[in-house]
Amino acid sequence: FPEVDESRIKMRNVVLSKLNKEENKKLLLRPVLNSLAMIDKVKPIVERVRKEGDDGLKAMTKQFDKAELSSNVMLPPFATPDEDQLPPDVKAAIDVAYNNVKTFHTAQAEKEPLIVETMPGVQCSRFVRPIARVGIYVPGGTAILPSTAIMLGVPAQVAGCKTIVLATPPRPDGSISPEVLYVAKLVGVTCILKAGGAQAVGAMAYGTEEVPKVDKIFGPGNQWVTAAKMLVQNDTDALVAIDMPAGPSEVLVIADHTANPVFVASDLLSQAEHGTDSQVVLVGISLTPKLLEEIEEQIDIQAKALPRVAIAREAIKKSVIVLVDSQKEAIEFSNEYAPEHLILHLEDAVKAVDGIENAGSVFVGAFSPESCGDYASGTNHTLPTNGFARQFSGVNTLSFQKHITSQLVSSDGLRVLGPSVVRLAEREGLEAHANAVRVRLAVLDK
Ligand code: NAD
Repeated sequence: FPEVDESRIKMRNVVLSKLNKEENKKLLLRPVLNSLAMIDKVKPIVERVRKEGDDGLKAMTKQFDKAELSSNVMLPPFATPDEDQLPPDVKAAIDVAYNNVKTFHTAQAEKEPLIVETMPGVQCSRFVRPIARVGIYVPGGTAILPSTAIMLGVPAQVAGCKTIVLATPPRPDGSISPEVLYVAKLVGVTCILKAGGAQAVGAMAYGTEEVPKVDKIFGPGNQWVTAAKMLVQNDTDALVAIDMPAGPSEVLVIADHTANPVFVASDLLSQAEHGTDSQVVLVGISLTPKLLEEIEEQIDIQAKALPRVAIAREAIKKSVIVLVDSQKEAIEFSNEYAPEHLILHLEDAVKAVDGIENAGSVFVGAFSPESCGDYASGTNHTLPTNGFARQFSGVNTLSFQKHITSQLVSSDGLRVLGPSVVRLAEREGLEAHANAVRVRLAVLDK
């Protein structure tokens, strides 16, 4: 790959058609996380919470978050933060986000059971029930993230989960951010767990005297949080599920000759400022040298004006512009990469969506920046990273529910279906299965 000019904040360029198979494969890779080593590190933390319960939790909150608490659990009613803490314009913006996310996630909820008669008298159905107890982790180490509280709290509320534990690390004075507190109130959480990292995950997975045990844990977080989620989901004693494997956030932007270079650069940078490990990819379709130069110039200018320029510089250094000759080639590459966020700056972006096979969430056209989905349009921002968009959906209302199937077989139905069941059970050598049908058919034949 060509050398990168250090003085300029610049992405490296590659021409896709000139890469060999190995180079092409490398382009699709994300940084490898050493998850096994991290799991070993979080084990003693999780074990300590499990053994020592609330006392262990308090001790580790003091050790890792410098907060001395008499209890890690805060119960409602929560006070509404006053105007000094939560200015009216911020509160109003949270309200807009809450309402839009609620509207979209309410529409996702299945209202009626699915009922199908597969044979006369054989009725199969499927219905939905909430996961009773859920834990939502809202990171709190280096940033305030009320948006994450909305993205996880709203679907839990809409799904009808009975117990919602919102975990977030406390500040050294023992408080939590007023923004997160306000969202906790809006989504009606059962309690706030003032704890972070692996100890918070452990407390929710096993429960303590004060912290309710949950059935599924959601949420992003640093490597301590992620590793603890992986650890507890593999422990049959915990019997807890997690939302999805998490990795550094990423965006893939596809741009053609109609793209606005200012918009394209702003989208790339809104991802690059997340963290030095953020993944940023631009796929350019037959870009003229002039347009490519304008985009590169905008990346440099806009990045240097950001407060988080140092982070963006690191992320951009590791990022790449992939030059292709056709939209088909661009979409094929994107489907292979399976990005968490996909932004389409295309002449006919709406039509291009038909070709998308793998992506967490798609941002269609010049006026749909990722930021809208990150905060407030209504879609969820908890999305699969690291290529997992191939097989995972982002968090949605159904993530907080499960399906139960049922069947209602009438006597006439069993007459029709029964012989096939008996034949299959005999073939598998499971006589008791066959008998369960035979004894009923015998009664019906009388
Ligand atoms: P965090 O809440 O994830 O982690 C803070 C906790 O980590 C602390 O409470 C502490 O318990 C634990 N911890 C830190 N250092 C430790 C150590 N040495 N030993 C044991 N425990 C330790 O907050 P954060 O650190 O600011 O990280 C937030 C993460 O969430 C970032 O990685 C960010 O990228 C990610 N994030 C992702 C998304 C997304 O949607 N993908 C959204 C928001 C945040």
